[in-house]
Amino acid sequence: MRLLRDDALESGDVRLGTRFWIFPQPPFIPGYEQPDRVWLSIARDEIGAGPSDPTMYVVDAVYDKQPYGFNRFPPFDGARRPPARPGPDRHFDNLDPASRPFLAVHAYACVRFVLDIWRSYLGRPIRWFFDQTFPRLEIVAFVDWDNAQAGYGFLELGCSGIGGIKRPYALNFDTIAHEVGHLIMLSETGVPSGISRDDDFFSFSEAFSDAVSLISFLHFDSAIDRLLRRTKGNLLLYNELNRFAETSPETQIRVATNFRQMSAVTREVHDRALPFVGAIFDSIVDLYHRDLVANGCADSSLLDFDLRDLARDEFDRFRQATAEAFRVKPLIFKRALTEARDAIGQALALSLRTLDPNTLTLAQAASAIIAKADGAAAERLETNFVWREIIGSR
Ligand SMILES: [Zn+2]
Repeated sequence: MRLLRDDALESGDVRLGTRFWIFPQPPFIPGYEQPDRVWLSIARDEIGAGPSDPTMYVVDAVYDKQPYGFNRFPPFDGARRPPARPGPDRHFDNLDPASRPFLAVHAYACVRFVLDIWRSYLGRPIRWFFDQTFPRLEIVAFVDWDNAQAGYGFLELGCSGIGGIKRPYALNFDTIAHEVGHLIMLSETGVPSGISRDDDFFSFSEAFSDAVSLISFLHFDSAIDRLLRRTKGNLLLYNELNRFAETSPETQIRVATNFRQMSAVTREVHDRALPFVGAIFDSIVDLYHRDLVANGCADSSLLDFDLRDLARDEFDRFRQATAEAFRVKPLIFKRALTEARDAIGQALALSLRTLDPNTLTLAQAASAIIAKADGAAAERLETNFVWREIIGSR
């Protein structure tokens, strides 16, 4: 009998998806020097050189390109470098990560990876908000400019220039995921018209994009493993672990572990987004704790008080207990974290369509997320949005 004989598998079924390398954090971050091999959902016969597919394509300019904006829009019509090509098996994991074409391939893979996750939360494909004008998203792999931006029909990636070493944002999953977050949000809420620069829409957009980056990052198995092993399963980032947060190599976690409340922020959009991002992260950690307690991996007293006020000896006791449980059953911790991540991610995604971009307030956005969350998640979100002074207590 040849039960497992499958011609499609043997010849490498093109419909199974396409392999890429992604660095979950930029490769200069200690512990993240090696990329992860990921399977993206797009079939190999739907993806061409560039890479390019029916919804997006990457360009890499030969000469310095001016960033888009004002009156400059895609498509790019200057001289392009030769498009990156897949290997003979039509997968894109054939390129040297130090090579120039890898920038294009990595940027593409990051965008697709994030879209795969958020499409799954939404339960349907994301239609670009600009698709009446530009059918496809243009990803510009490299611009000599210390910024990254997503806009009408494009996502372009510059480089950071700290210490004289240029570090392309094309290798920075965090930055790319954040920019894709902006595109997802606009595609779901629609584009606001006639609102001013300090409307809450922009702060929410920053908060949502940071949450997209954080939650998408938590979809790398290797990243979750590293995070849990380093902390021995203890994501309680307050007190002692606040130091962990500040020195955490994961950019997303540094941003999300903040103590800011609305009474302590300015009108500047990124500053004003911080309490919202904090509430999202706290809710993930709270749900994670509930799951650990339910599975006998943490003491139930953990759920009884505000963790921000945890005394030193209580914290130490908790840390010791979770470390012991983590040594024995790490998979419980991993499952707890992925379920918490998805409960919050899904509520965030589903809330978007219920928001009016022209009148949006942070309080409305918070309420919309709570409304789309299930019991325990809704309760934790509400408590955390209240503590952050984004909504009043009900
Ligand atoms: Zn942003």
